[in-house]
Amino acid sequence: MSDLILFWHRRDLRISDNTGLAAARKQTAKVVGVFCLDPHILNSDDVAPARIAYMIGCLQSLQQRYIQAGSQLLILHNHPITAIPKLAEALNAKAVFWNWDVEPYAQIRDHDVNLALKEKGIQTLEQNWDQLLHSPDEIFSGAQTPYTVYTPFWKNWNSKPKNKPVAILENCENLTDSEQEIAKKSGVINLPSAADLGFNWDGELIIPPGETAAQEKLASFTNKTINSYDEQRNYPAIDGTSQLSPALKFGVIGIRTIWQTTIELLANSNSEEVTNNITTWQKELAWREFYQHAMYHFPELAQGAYRDVFKNFPWRNNEKHFQAWCAGKTGYPIVDAAMRQLNETGWMHNRCRMIVASFLTKDLMINPQWGEKYFMQKLIDGDLSANNGGWQWSASSGMDPKPLRIFNPASQAQKFDADGEYIRQWVRELKSVDTPYLISGKIPPLELSSINYPAPIVDHQKQQALFKKLYQEQKVDS
Ligand SMILES: Cc1cc2nc3c(=O)[nH]c(=O)nc-3n(C[C@H](O)[C@H](O)[C@H](O)COP(=O)(O)OP(=O)(O)OC[C@H]3O[C@@H](n4cnc5c(N)ncnc54)[C@H](O)[C@@H]3O)c2cc1C
Repeated sequence: MSDLILFWHRRDLRISDNTGLAAARKQTAKVVGVFCLDPHILNSDDVAPARIAYMIGCLQSLQQRYIQAGSQLLILHNHPITAIPKLAEALNAKAVFWNWDVEPYAQIRDHDVNLALKEKGIQTLEQNWDQLLHSPDEIFSGAQTPYTVYTPFWKNWNSKPKNKPVAILENCENLTDSEQEIAKKSGVINLPSAADLGFNWDGELIIPPGETAAQEKLASFTNKTINSYDEQRNYPAIDGTSQLSPALKFGVIGIRTIWQTTIELLANSNSEEVTNNITTWQKELAWREFYQHAMYHFPELAQGAYRDVFKNFPWRNNEKHFQAWCAGKTGYPIVDAAMRQLNETGWMHNRCRMIVASFLTKDLMINPQWGEKYFMQKLIDGDLSANNGGWQWSASSGMDPKPLRIFNPASQAQKFDADGEYIRQWVRELKSVDTPYLISGKIPPLELSSINYPAPIVDHQKQQALFKKLYQEQKVDS
């Protein structure tokens, strides 16, 4: 058996602050990366072109990073359960390492790959929770059960000491020429483009791909924007958030690196206001972990409602209404602006994600799973745990104790887009409509026809009342 360790990248597309990769490098200089383009994921019907374009860009950048470290990243395009063990065996690797994941599919896949490797006498490294600051088995309530409510989770999670970033991969030894030949015969290919894989995305990406761009985004956010995060994060017309979600989704930046930056900022903070801004951002990072822990402990969340009252809810599921929501043509300007931002950029501001999710579920009374799937088909940061968590929260169908949460689109617009700047940016035909009409959504019919913008497809007040009635009926039945 050779000294070679293959490191299997999945949602950790970086060589810095990567726990599993650093563990491999500690054992040997001969560490070679591998990424498997998995047909099970690529052929599913919830893949976003923007996400694949970003991922491919990150893989290109990762290939460069490996070369700088003296090694290389190999690309496979097949089912990991067969492709990874086949390559490892052909290269006579002594081990394959990877970082663990919370998602149900990943858990089954990893279990199977693990078994296949062990059968071939190839070592694996288990339980490496690189993408989280704390593993799901580390944060439990006093009764030793997983948390189902965020605030006590945050208190416990935040009180625990956190690991520092781990060493970057460097001074590696690459495959020999004959091993390169073996790799090629064992399924290794050149990295295809997103278009080669059938995903066309020619729009700009909210964040350029790759480790360096993610580090630069973190630096620009923490040097400036974070200082007004607490207030400005709610205004969709302002770039008041980090926009690091795609990088976090694909692990293009290490979570320990991010956390360490916040710790240093807190240490240098000289006012309560600054401390507050940083802590609010840390709490968002904790939401990410909360939802990943939830997915790990309650994988049934991925299948639908958590609360009984929503398990057989009589959703209206009107196809025409759904299509209008998807296209940003509901006649509710703030909803339409948000959906058009999603369709055009592959990203949507968090405040607007909550508004459109509430509108789909409470106003249109469409099954949240339809919206959850549409988001996955569009979002550059589409992530099962965070997306499911966001949809369950908005639909009131999740673990959240607040029974019913209904957003009024007009009050949301009034509060968070008071000048209609965001609405005008994305719903261009509304550019010259007066702000009060934009906010209230009550555009005079005469004006509507001249600008080719739809009248509201439903009446918010009526729908709200109807939803509450249906909810009460379901509560009695469940
Ligand atoms: C219906 C709905 C669907 C969502 N789908 C996704 C999704 O598919 N992928 C995704 O990453 N986020 C999702 N979110 C959460 C949130 O909207 C995004 O993480 C955030 O808008 C990303 O922007 P940012 O990086 O500028 O965030 P920042 O405000 O800078 O926050 C920093 C990081 O914290 C994490 N985070 C922030 N808020 C949340 C949250 N509520 N839940 C979980 N993690 C959070 C993200 O990783 C984010 O990058 C969803 C929210 C809702 C309401």
